[in-house]
Amino acid sequence: MAFPSTQFPDATGHFGRFGGMFVPETLMAPLQELAAAYEQVKADPAFRRELDALLSDYVGRPTPLYFAERWTKALGGARIYLKREDLLHTGAHKINNAIGQILLAKRLGKTRIIAETGAGQHGVATATVCARFGMECVVYMGQVDMERQALNVARMRLMGAEVRAVTAGQATLKEAVNEAMRDWVASVDHTHYILGSALGSHPFPMIVRDFHRVIGLEARRQILEKEGRLPDLLVACVGGGSNAIGLFHPFLGDPDVRMLGIEAGGDGIIPERHAARFQGGKLGVLQGTKTWLLANDDGQIQLTHSVSAGLDYAAVGPEHAFLQESGRVQYNFATDAEALAAFKQLAHTEGIIPALESAHAMAGVIKVAPTLSSDQIIIANLSGRGDKDVEQAAKYLLG
Ligand SMILES: *Cc1c(COP(=O)(O)O)cnc(C)c1O
Repeated sequence: MAFPSTQFPDATGHFGRFGGMFVPETLMAPLQELAAAYEQVKADPAFRRELDALLSDYVGRPTPLYFAERWTKALGGARIYLKREDLLHTGAHKINNAIGQILLAKRLGKTRIIAETGAGQHGVATATVCARFGMECVVYMGQVDMERQALNVARMRLMGAEVRAVTAGQATLKEAVNEAMRDWVASVDHTHYILGSALGSHPFPMIVRDFHRVIGLEARRQILEKEGRLPDLLVACVGGGSNAIGLFHPFLGDPDVRMLGIEAGGDGIIPERHAARFQGGKLGVLQGTKTWLLANDDGQIQLTHSVSAGLDYAAVGPEHAFLQESGRVQYNFATDAEALAAFKQLAHTEGIIPALESAHAMAGVIKVAPTLSSDQIIIANLSGRGDKDVEQAAKYLLG
């Protein structure tokens, strides 16, 4: 796996005017230590070898790049390829990051891991790699999310993780992040925080991005093998933005490759009924980073809503804010109804049940593919599998 040498973030962790390190004083030194350690391992062939071996034999890489022939016919436009992150161990892209960060934690001599989780997918990925490396694992999760995602709570516990319920505020992801940060301030000498998306203070947005770049690097090689040229368009859903930046980043220098990120439009762009930060969001600071977020006029973080828990967060990763402002990547949204329709359509036409998060990207494909010609190519990131969502989707789709 080739690591990138890119311009962004700069030495202070900024992507243009976004990003940075907005953390309590006690975390500044540990974050700088993490950034320095990361720079070292990036250049260390032994680290890469260990990571590559785990990615292939434990995580299940490379994932296929699958030509969705029947879906392409049904939509009647561009040729559609799906990057099959849904086939990875634990069912989504999140393990790419979790496995990379636990190797980093080992290098730093840390013996305990903490993480936050919303839907539980990142918690499961973290509990998985902790079991694999015999590390103590504590996952913070909102009480409300624990009730909604009981299966993932059981999976984490089965693998030996302690799941700590967070009851403050809305008792969902934002509060879980706050608790994880509080823990880390007190435990940072022996604890590593495996943050779950391309979010938070520097160096996390960079580290998480780099561990997911393997998605785009593989896709690039695979499409050149299959089609002999680069794609015209990349599509991915954007929660914090990790699966999207992983696919997009290796193509940023290719001016003919367009990119489209899809946020969660919920019930439509009505305050507190969606999670589309680029629609009606404002610039602000949340949980370590300066970026676009959903807040009211007093700067209070607004409630968000999405049918998919993994996209239901008030802030977007700072690199996406930068890519949006620079015009390099376009961002749009899909509503709950559009995502559910895509969920059903992909299941029917291809026999693939996408995660509800990924179904947002698929909804983006449904809109854009018919506007392109049959000699154009789309690669859409199928970030996770939908087994976890079948019960919830059935409630909507079957009445
Ligand atoms: C968590 C999750 C997402 C959203 O997170 P990003 O960091 O934006 O990728 C998307 N898809 C799946 C399957 C997820 O589990």
